[in-house]
Amino acid sequence: MRISDKFKGDEKRVSFEFFPPKSVESRRPFMNVVNALKRYDPLYVSVTYGSGGSTRDRTGTTLKWIKEETDLTVMSHLTCIGATTSSIDALLKDYMASGIDNILAMRGDPPRDVADFDPAKGEFRFARDLVAFIKRCKYFSIAVAVYPEGHQESPSIEKDMEYTKAKIDEGADFAITQMFFDNRYYYDFLDRAAKEGITIPILPGIMPITDCRKIEEFADFCNATIPQDIKKKMEPLLDKPEEMRKLGVEYAVRQCEDLLDGGVRYLHFYTMNRADSVGEILDALGSRFLRKQSG
Ligand code: FAD
Repeated sequence: MRISDKFKGDEKRVSFEFFPPKSVESRRPFMNVVNALKRYDPLYVSVTYGSGGSTRDRTGTTLKWIKEETDLTVMSHLTCIGATTSSIDALLKDYMASGIDNILAMRGDPPRDVADFDPAKGEFRFARDLVAFIKRCKYFSIAVAVYPEGHQESPSIEKDMEYTKAKIDEGADFAITQMFFDNRYYYDFLDRAAKEGITIPILPGIMPITDCRKIEEFADFCNATIPQDIKKKMEPLLDKPEEMRKLGVEYAVRQCEDLLDGGVRYLHFYTMNRADSVGEILDALGSRFLRKQSG
């Protein structure tokens, strides 16, 4: 089912992002996580795509596992940097044949291990080229990635919004944000996007801080600010992982409550393939949010 057809009414829904497990042996534990989160009745679940297509097959296989074992709506992440039009075309045909109707279309990050990598030499340069390419199939619902604090390579926040608008105008149905930990960045992004004439749903990406050091590294790389107050509270807990995780859950609950109070209807969770933290957050948000199902 196309996600663009599911944004209706005024219901509040969640979505979950997973990464593809490394081996076939991990199918059962992975599906246990998916099944544990299924009870929150997600709008969709998505599976990431390793940079440069490194998980191309595993991403597809994981999506097919989910489809085989559940009735969840699935979305594939897809990056185009370094890809050819024929390889993307073959992948899209496989997805169409498999009933994978939704794609998060991105450029991806330039490979770190290739010296003098020149994206301008590729057949796709920016995400907007991939959005336009996928749109031509007239089949998929398309999402794009957006950056409340600006993309790390953007020369300015204004240019970033200009390019964001350009890729959405190629035919994106909705957008998902990079993780952010201070909601003011998200609200400000929504205001700036509205001024630019962007009207598609922009789903906030929520990353529970379960391991302060790891998230800090990643947040640094992708230009997401971790507020000082949470950093200060977490640092003394570096050798108490469970206490740190609980604190991260509490922080995420407050962040989500504020978003819901601000009128947000959809929350996209970066699950890191764990059901515990996201489940605890959703349980804490409780009936004001969930259409929780049994089983
Ligand atoms: P683009 O929109 O193409 O932008 C890339 C840069 O180019 C930006 O700085 C932009 O401002 C600039 N730009 C755009 N158009 C122009 C133009 N016309 N002229 C000059 N500059 C321009 N990565 C993965 O590898 N796999 C994943 O599964 C994955 N999932 C993600 C999920 C989400 C929700 C998010 C937010 C990110 C995800 N990423 C993933 C990371 C993403 O691939 C990187 O952030 C990547 O660096 C940018 O991809 P993009 O599609 O936003 O690029």
